[in-house]
Amino acid sequence: MMFVSHFLFGILSGYFACNFLNCDNTFLFVSIAAVASSFPDIDHVSSKISRKLPPFAIVSHSLFAHRGFIHSLFPPLLLYFMIFKIDSAIAAAVLVGYISHLLLDATTTRGIRFFYPLPFKIKGFIRTNSFAEKIVTMLLLIVIITIVVMTLFIK
Ligand SMILES: [Zn+2]
Repeated sequence: MMFVSHFLFGILSGYFACNFLNCDNTFLFVSIAAVASSFPDIDHVSSKISRKLPPFAIVSHSLFAHRGFIHSLFPPLLLYFMIFKIDSAIAAAVLVGYISHLLLDATTTRGIRFFYPLPFKIKGFIRTNSFAEKIVTMLLLIVIITIVVMTLFIK
């Protein structure tokens, strides 16, 4: 999936998680989740995050295959427990954003091995950057705009 799709789904997941968890600062929670939603593609050479952080990208490309360990449930859980000691809300936002990326990638034909290196894989029918993905991106955008409009104007 493309950066934009992950970003939008990160925003949406952050919003719902924040409501569910009754978090104090919706804007902060959603922002962190949106940023964290791009973390997993650090294992992909040409992703946006790799171009922003070349040193990390070089290390992660040489250590991890694309959609390998970095695209499993282990890194977000590890991050969660590491950040939890500092701030539990930030830890939750990172967890939600990161996992939202994995869930969205699981809808693609390449799929996701959530428990990498175990072979168990979940996959869907959407090809990256295809027409189907653009439809998904549009739908995410429409839902987000609807939520923003409703929270701003309907009280
Ligand atoms: Zn990905």
